[in-house]
Amino acid sequence: MFNRLNMILPLVGACLTVAVSNGAHAQQAPTPPPAARISAANPSSFDAAAATQAWLDTVPADKRAKSNAYFEGGYWLILWNFLLAVAISIFLLASRTSAALRDSAECKSRFKAIQVSLYAIPYLLLVYLLSFPLNFYENFYREHQYGFATQRFLPWFREQLIALGVALIIGTILLIVLYAVFRRAPRTWWIWGTIVTVIFLFTVTFIAPIYIEPLFNTYKPLSNPEIRDPILAMARANEIPVKQVFEVDASRQTTRVSANVAGFLGTTRIALNDNLLKECSLPEIREVMAHEMGHYVLNHAAKLITYFGIFVFIGFAFSRTLFEVAVRRWGNKWSVRGIADPAGLPSLVLILSTFVFVVTPFLNTVVRVTEREADAFGINTAREPDGMAKVALKLGAYRKLNPTPLEEFIFFDHPSGRARIRMAMDWKAANLPAGESSAGESKPSSH
Ligand SMILES: [Zn+2]
Repeated sequence: MFNRLNMILPLVGACLTVAVSNGAHAQQAPTPPPAARISAANPSSFDAAAATQAWLDTVPADKRAKSNAYFEGGYWLILWNFLLAVAISIFLLASRTSAALRDSAECKSRFKAIQVSLYAIPYLLLVYLLSFPLNFYENFYREHQYGFATQRFLPWFREQLIALGVALIIGTILLIVLYAVFRRAPRTWWIWGTIVTVIFLFTVTFIAPIYIEPLFNTYKPLSNPEIRDPILAMARANEIPVKQVFEVDASRQTTRVSANVAGFLGTTRIALNDNLLKECSLPEIREVMAHEMGHYVLNHAAKLITYFGIFVFIGFAFSRTLFEVAVRRWGNKWSVRGIADPAGLPSLVLILSTFVFVVTPFLNTVVRVTEREADAFGINTAREPDGMAKVALKLGAYRKLNPTPLEEFIFFDHPSGRARIRMAMDWKAANLPAGESSAGESKPSSH
């Protein structure tokens, strides 16, 4: 859902959605391989490292190669998307297209807010148009190539247009407010701009489940009691005030299995998708839902927006200096007057894109650490180590299962399959007693 709003919400969407996939065909989840089975007679002989390796070894070489190719291709896409953003910005500035858009907006109205909208709408349309070939390759052609997409071109393009409409509305409102800040605080705009951006992120996160997500998918309460009741039991055990769990028809767009927690405060909603219902067993579904509940209980939406606000603050501080340098050097050539001039937007975008590109490993790490917290919550709530391992393997259809530590640090916004299975096997090896276990009753307390 959120990936359609990438321009506005690069982080929030990525972190609140756990997407797992097992390709076009449902695969039978492997039972625990022998090394991952715990012996009732001798539980201390369980070796978590060997068990992890045994799970990883259940994946056939061809599937592993395909998933590695898909995921590693994504590394290059980060670079191509960055270079494209840079090229578009330089083109709009150097050709004076940006200045021409500003001049035309100033001719049509004397109100600043209207001038900003008259600049923003054609600017956003132009950027969409110029980045369409890469967008088409990445989100349509490549997804079909790897068997993840289920939509033909026309329904896909129709959703692209809806997403573009949403981006135009949200983007224009944000730019009107930001440029009002830039005009009033030409020296301290980067501080006030951060506050505006963070408030804006909270607002969009809050309204997304009500106004944005239904534009693409239908959410309905999950009715099958065999699935619903065990999920609601976990919610009750963790003081989560939900009366129902939602099912979303994600198979309209994709074969990926996923679940998500969206919204904020009163609009929070936990939903699982129809692919998950079709292709996962109850232990796996419980594990995924417990992970999503972890995001809720650990207040991850608010925390991630706060962390993201810190990145925005550093990015804006960095932009403030570089923007002034750029205007001093090329302002005449580009016909850009200063920060309050909308014609300078492409250079602000250029600087911010560079910043985001450089800090990608840190952004990914902030999200990955948060996901790991949700994993820890999930395993303790669902208590399904084998279910967690199976889900991690299904995720492995599109996320490299066994990366190097450096690769995981730079590119992974969720823990790798190996890390997740290891967490599950460590949990299994610890063999935790339940509440009123006989061990706790019979032994004297030793605090
Ligand atoms: Zn998650």
